[in-house]
Amino acid sequence: MSDNGNAGAMTSSTATNDRLAGKVAVITGGSRGQGAAEAELFVAAGATVVITDVLDDEGKATAERLGDAVSYLHHDVSSSQEWADVVASVVETHGRIDVLVNNAGIFQIAALEATSDDDWDRMISINQTGVFYGLREVSPLMRAQGSGSIINISSIAGLSGTAKAFAYSATKWAVRGMTKGAARDLAASGVRVNSVHPGIIDTPMFEEFGEAGGAVEASIPNGRLAEASEVGTLVLYLASDESSYCTGQEFVIDGGWTA
Ligand code: NAD
Repeated sequence: MSDNGNAGAMTSSTATNDRLAGKVAVITGGSRGQGAAEAELFVAAGATVVITDVLDDEGKATAERLGDAVSYLHHDVSSSQEWADVVASVVETHGRIDVLVNNAGIFQIAALEATSDDDWDRMISINQTGVFYGLREVSPLMRAQGSGSIINISSIAGLSGTAKAFAYSATKWAVRGMTKGAARDLAASGVRVNSVHPGIIDTPMFEEFGEAGGAVEASIPNGRLAEASEVGTLVLYLASDESSYCTGQEFVIDGGWTA
């Protein structure tokens, strides 16, 4: 395990390249973890990146660390008004949005019978409604542009039943379903929508497992957590024109968990 959840391992993909040259990308939940790793890879690939989050200090620090092509906006994804404000701000500053990564999310260990009304509402509002608002807010813009790539971060919990994470799993199945519906609605306009399903990733979210973390890690078929950047390279592929014929699909990256 690395000692932080920020950018993950440096890979050959962090070398400068032009895979996203000229593109403007918005990454929600980009202050740390996978979102920050994706921002780093996107900038190296020539993109202009806006990271958004509710962790303002971490978000500003991440943007500063990654340089002039990255900026930070405060943004609670569970607020439709804040979505409207963020999209308007990015369009005013950068003129367009080519890539949206709906990455922001929360995780909670709670089995079905231990899930309170508040737990459920909070999980749905961030993980599910937040993605819906994002899809709805950028769709007219991307449709008018005639292009765009939206990547929704689901989970392996959106592919099978997940013990002791009932609400989380429900939202990640919803993300997968919304991805397919949006992909069908937008396909003819040149806008692509795909979902990514990470296994267990070495980010601050992993700490939610608490003492169970060791057993979770030991049960990963390839024997280790993924670095955030390993998910980032897949998201980079989906953001780029290299994936031009991919839409409405789920991309699994899990060290063999669902094999
Ligand atoms: P993380 O906790 O490091 O990052 C999540 C980010 O989302 C944080 O910066 C957090 O502040 C932000 N966020 C939370 N609520 C928000 C809100 N209301 N508005 C805006 N931002 C908000 O964890 P991560 O692993 O980087 O998670 C990224 C995504 O990957 C999440 O959707 C998560 O469900 C998914 N995922 C994570 C794992 C894993 O093992 N870490 C596995 C599968 C899927």
